[in-house]
Parts: sequence; C-alpha cells; structure tokens
Amino acid sequence: MRSQQLHKAKENTESTAETVPLTEEERAAQIEGQNAARLLESQDSQEPSTSDEKPKKANPIYWKRNLSKYLRNRGEAYESKNKIVEAKRLKPPCNDQCRLKCLEKIPEPERLKIFKEYWGLGDLHMQWTYIKERIDPIQAVFVNITRKTRRELNQAFHMIVKGEKIRVCKTFFLNTLDITPWVIRSVVAKKTPTGEIKKDMRGKHTNRIIPPQIKDDIRKHIRSLPRETDEEGREHIACWKSKADIYIDYKQTCIKEQKQYGNYHTYVYIIRTEFSSLHFDNGAPKRKRNTKATTTKATTAKAAAAKAATAKAATAEAATAKAATAETTMAKAATAEAATAKAATAEAATTEAATT
Ligand SMILES: [Zn+2]
Repeated sequence: MRSQQLHKAKENTESTAETVPLTEEERAAQIEGQNAARLLESQDSQEPSTSDEKPKKANPIYWKRNLSKYLRNRGEAYESKNKIVEAKRLKPPCNDQCRLKCLEKIPEPERLKIFKEYWGLGDLHMQWTYIKERIDPIQAVFVNITRKTRRELNQAFHMIVKGEKIRVCKTFFLNTLDITPWVIRSVVAKKTPTGEIKKDMRGKHTNRIIPPQIKDDIRKHIRSLPRETDEEGREHIACWKSKADIYIDYKQTCIKEQKQYGNYHTYVYIIRTEFSSLHFDNGAPKRKRNTKATTTKATTAKAAAAKAATAKAATAEAATAKAATAETTMAKAATAEAATAKAATAEAATTEAATT
C-alpha cells in the first residue's frame, strides 16, 4: 500500500508526452526544470563544450527519473525519494481453506509464469488492461446500497492460462501479481462503460471539480461560433480557427466580462464530449486549406467585382456631374469673356472717339 502511494506521488512529479498545449504555469515550470537541468549539466561536465558537433549530454535528472519509472513498471527494485523500493516477487497463494481451490487449478510454476508475464509488460497502461481483462463485475441479486465499497467487493477475479479463463480468489490474484488492492480499485474506477481503460491521467488535474457556470459559459461560447459546412458535409467553425485560437477568444471574452473562465483542457473536453460533430481547423490537412482558400478567393472576387461596379457607377455619375458643371462654367466663362470683350470694344471705341 505504502509503495503504491509512493508510486503515485512519484508519478505526479512526472509528465509524460502530452499533445495539449501547456498552461503558463506549466510552461514556466518546464522552463525552470530545463534551466535546473542545464545548470546541473554544466556543473557535471569538466570541460566547457566548445564544439557544436558534440552530442548533447544526457540529462541526469530525466535519466534517473526515467530509470526509476522503467524499473518500477517492470516490478524491479528502484529508488524513490532516496529510499529503495523492493522488487516485486511472487507472494504466497491462498490457503487450502479457499473455496475456489485456486492452487489446485493453477499450480506454482504457472503462477510464476503469470507473475513474469504481468511484470514483463513493463507499461502501466498495458498492466491495467491486463488486470481489467481478468476482472468481471458480479451481478449481485441483492445490493447493499449502504455499503460504499460494494463495487470493489463485487468482482470476480480470473487468471488466463493457455487461453482458458480460470476463476480465482482475490488473495490468489493479488499475491500472484504482487499488486495491492489499490491497483484493483484504480482499474475498476477507470473502467469506462465500453470496457476500455481510460488513459493514465494521474497528475493531470482531471479530478478538479469545474463550476457548472464555467461549463455553461463554455457551451454558450461554442454555440455562438459561426458555422460553415464543407464539401463533405462536415460542420466547421466558419472562421477556420484552431481550438487554441478559439479558446483564446473565449478567455478574452470572459476577462472582458469579468467572469471566471475554464482552462484549455476543460474547453477542449467539452468540445470533444458535447460537440464532437464540429470540426476545427488545426492547420494540418491540405484539403481543408484548399476549401478555405477557394471560399475566401470566391468571396474576395465577388466582393471585388461588386466594389468595382459600384466604383464605376460612382465615377460615371461623378463624370457626368463634372461635365455638367464644366459646361456651365465654360458657358459662364464664355459669357463673361464676351461681356468683357464687348466692354473692351466699347471702351476702345470711346477712347478712339476721344482721340479723334
Ligand atoms: Zn483462492
């Protein structure tokens, strides 16, 4: 039990490969970790590296951690928090009082084979799946509702020997694999309705309770996004943004409205579980991009044509107006000129008359 808790604590400090973007704190922590590792690395190396071609030095922190994880998943002794966690070993079977007569059905050499088979998997997810395949819920005729642990108590345990599923007692099951009841509880809890084991999400903050208001706001935001249907009839977000872009929009809206907002995981989780038919442009498939380009081009062309037409019409009108004005001006000017000329002639005539 204790070692399992240690495992859990250890697991929490580790981060396995994840595809979802990190939050700011997570990224900061990662950078800090990298810096610490770099510092350690530089202290470790006797000479400063001068050549770029020198292969990158193994990171001692990660190396040690990975080794521990590797050993732990294989049931071998490993170091955790400066303590040695003992290696897994085949524990004694159930006694001869067992109703199921487990040892008669599965003798010691078979047990050892099973033990090696299980720890040889060396992968937590595969081990959980292994256990899941060997546990069946018992359909209880009478269910004691007041008993909180009823799910745990109503399990039938099996071992598979040469393709044959053999029912065994819980003690035999746990001691053959050298696992704790905690592992069983964990597997049972992670069993989905379809019977698949959920991915190991330890240390990934999935147990946080998200306020319903935040969830509602996320749903509202997703529903408010403009939609578009592509050639294949799939519904897309009309702005062709990625989930991350849309999340940023959502977060900014919440900040503007001084509302609490959910994190990216929650946002994506709601999309995946409640809006699964909706497609987001993650920037990858070319087909989508082409559709996008065509749509945009078509729209642009149409808009341009419309603009041009309007512009032409406006110009024509303006030209006409101008022409009219010009004509009037010219006519006026002509009249004025004529008048001046007349006046001048008259003046000239007067002057001439005066001189004679
Ligand atoms: Zn037994």
